[in-house]
Amino acid sequence: MGFIDDELQEVSKLCQNVVDGSRLVSCVRTMVRVEITKTRCKTIIVCIQFSKDYPYTPLLIELKSKTLSVKLLDGLTEVCEKECKNLLGKAQVLPILKFIRNFIDENPLICCYDEISAIKKILEHDDELKLKQKYSCINLKIKKGLYYFKAKIEVPDNYPVACVKLEDADTNFPPLFARHFIGQGKELARQCVEPPLNLKKKSQSPFVPTPSLKVVISFLINSVKTLPQEHCQSCRQTCLPPNPENAETNETANMHVERLYCGHLFHLRCLVTFMKTPPFHGGKKCPTCEQRIYHEKWGMSDKLAEERWAHQQARARELAEVEDFLT
Ligand SMILES: [Zn+2]
Ligand SMILES: [Zn+2]
Repeated sequence: MGFIDDELQEVSKLCQNVVDGSRLVSCVRTMVRVEITKTRCKTIIVCIQFSKDYPYTPLLIELKSKTLSVKLLDGLTEVCEKECKNLLGKAQVLPILKFIRNFIDENPLICCYDEISAIKKILEHDDELKLKQKYSCINLKIKKGLYYFKAKIEVPDNYPVACVKLEDADTNFPPLFARHFIGQGKELARQCVEPPLNLKKKSQSPFVPTPSLKVVISFLINSVKTLPQEHCQSCRQTCLPPNPENAETNETANMHVERLYCGHLFHLRCLVTFMKTPPFHGGKKCPTCEQRIYHEKWGMSDKLAEERWAHQQARARELAEVEDFLT
C-alpha cells in the first residue's frame, strides 16, 4: 500500500469523527470530496486531488458553496494552499479539512462577506466599520459633520434566515430621529425575514428570507448622511443646526423638527401653519413629494384611529403600505 492509499483509508475511517459536520462524499485516489456544514448557509464542499509527487507537493484544492461568496472562497483556497505547503511530506487531507472547519467556526461573518464589501464601498473615510468575528457582530459608526450614529449589529448564526439585530445604538441626533433610526432599522430587518401579513392578496410565490445586513446599514448611512442637510418643507431653512447641541429637543417647541411619513421635514410651527392654511380639498399633501400628510401629532378620525390600532396589533408596520391604509 502506498502513502496515498494509507491516507485515504485513514480519511474514510476518521473524517466524520474529527471534522465536525463533515460528510464524506467520495474518497478515492482521483478525488476526495467532503461537504462541511455548520448551518444551511455556512456549507463548503471541499474537492481535493492529489498532486504529482504528493505528499512532497501540496494538495490541489477546490472549494465550492451554493451560499458563500466566490471571492471569499478564492481567498480561502489560497490560504489552504499555503497551509498545505507547511505540511509537505506528511498527510495533508485531514489537517486541511480541520483547518477549513475551524475557519468556518472562527469567522461567523463569512455569511455576509459580499454585503460587507458593498457597505465598505459606500462608507466615507471618517466612518467606522469594525468586524468582531469573535462575537459575530459589526461595530458601526457613521458621521456627518458633528452628527454621529453608532450601533452594534449582530449577525445570528442562522443568518440570513434570522435577521441582523441592532443593539447598543447611540447618537447625538434629536430623540425623534434616534427613534426613527432604530425603529425603522429593526423594521427593515424584520421585513427581510418575515412574510408580509395578509392585508393584501397573498402573492403566488412562497416567501424566502433575504439578507438584511446591507438593507439596514444602507438605510442608516443614507439617513445620517442626508438628514443634517434637509430643509423645512415650508420655510426652506435647514432643519437641524450644524451643532447637535443646539438642536431643539422639546417636542412641543415651535422649532422642533417633525418628520412626516414620506420622510420630509417641517418645523412644528411651520407644519401647524401649513395644516391650517387652505386649500384643504383632497387632504393636505407634502409640498415636495405630494404624499398625503400623516402625522402622529395631528388629529385622526375615529375610523383611522381604529384602523391604526388594528394595524399595529397585527404588527403590520410596513411603511410602504401607509398610503393604502389611509385611503
Ligand atoms: Zn420651517
Ligand atoms: Zn414628502
